[in-house]
Amino acid sequence: MLPVIALVGRPNVGKSTLFNQLTRSRDALVADFPGLTRDRQYGPGRVGGFPYMVVDTGGLSGEAETLDDLMARQTRQAIDESDVVLFMVDGRDGLTAADESIARDLRTRGKQVVLVVNKTDGLDVDQAMAEFHSLGFGVPRAIAASHGRGIAGLMDAVREHL
Ligand code: GDP
Ligand code: MG
Repeated sequence: MLPVIALVGRPNVGKSTLFNQLTRSRDALVADFPGLTRDRQYGPGRVGGFPYMVVDTGGLSGEAETLDDLMARQTRQAIDESDVVLFMVDGRDGLTAADESIARDLRTRGKQVVLVVNKTDGLDVDQAMAEFHSLGFGVPRAIAASHGRGIAGLMDAVREHL
């Protein structure tokens, strides 16, 4: 059985972009429209001799009132099925209330979580990362999914959590 890695985070943080990098496919829809990937999507991948299965999700909005129930259910199922969760946040937007809400949700699930700060291209990385420590998932990993940057190091961190 391949280890299963779930990509979780609010809409538009770059989950589908990372999915495409990790599976080297264009199958996941990437768009500027939040919430476009409505369903779960599975793909095998391999980085540096490490094979895995990655699951893209439509994401959790982090807002109970506006939460799309189907998306939320699909995402929770993907989390339950996974061995490691990559919890993605957006280094440009900074820490949001929705991120904190998802963090609270993830803490109740007892899964291995790696916190991933995406869109760090062109940012002062140390400054961009600082505020995310407060989410309580340890040292965040910086990536730029659309540039394929930081992915090998991220997958090393994933291996350590298996
Ligand atoms: P999802 O809703 O979480 O699946 O997010 P998407 O993968 O659809 O990406 C949302 C938007 O962020 C798209 O316009 C992407 O091109 C953009 N994006 C993703 N990764 C990066 C990145 O590393 N840097 C920058 N600058 N933009 C990114
Ligand atoms: Mg998506």
